[in-house]
Amino acid sequence: MPPSRRRGFSLPDDCLFCKLYREGDHIAATGGFVAIRDINPQAPVHLLVLPERHVDSFREIGEFPPEEAKRMLEFVADVAAREGLTDYRVAVNVGPTAGQTVFHLHWHIKGGWA
Ligand code: AMP
Ligand code: ZN
Repeated sequence: MPPSRRRGFSLPDDCLFCKLYREGDHIAATGGFVAIRDINPQAPVHLLVLPERHVDSFREIGEFPPEEAKRMLEFVADVAAREGLTDYRVAVNVGPTAGQTVFHLHWHIKGGWA
C-alpha cells in the first residue's frame, strides 16, 4: 500500500519534501525518516531531516505517535553524529513569519564551523 493510503498519512501530491522523501538524494535513511543536504546551505554543514509522515509544521507534532517522535529525534542526533558533528544547531522554523518556506515538517541541522 503506498504511503498516501496509510492511515494517518496525508501525502499532498505537490509537496516538495514528500517527493524528496521518495526520490531525493538521501545521505541517511531509516524507517520513516531521511536526511538530505540543504540546497542552499546556511552553514558549512547544513542537513535536513524529513519524516515520511506529512504534517504541515511542528505545530502538528501531536500527530506523531510518541515512539515515532522519539525515533525522529534520535535520527536527528544520529545523522549529526554520522556527519562528524559534535557541536551543532537543530532548528525548526514554524510558520512563514518565522522563516518556514516548505510546509512539511523538517529539522535543520547546522554545524561544521570549527
Ligand atoms: P524552511 O525555510 O525552514 O521551510 O526550510 C526549507 C529548506 O529547504 C531551506 O533551507 C531550503 O534551502 C531547503 N530546500 C528547498 N528546496 C530544496 C531541495 N530541492 N533540496 C534540498 N533542500 C531544499
Ligand atoms: Zn509533504
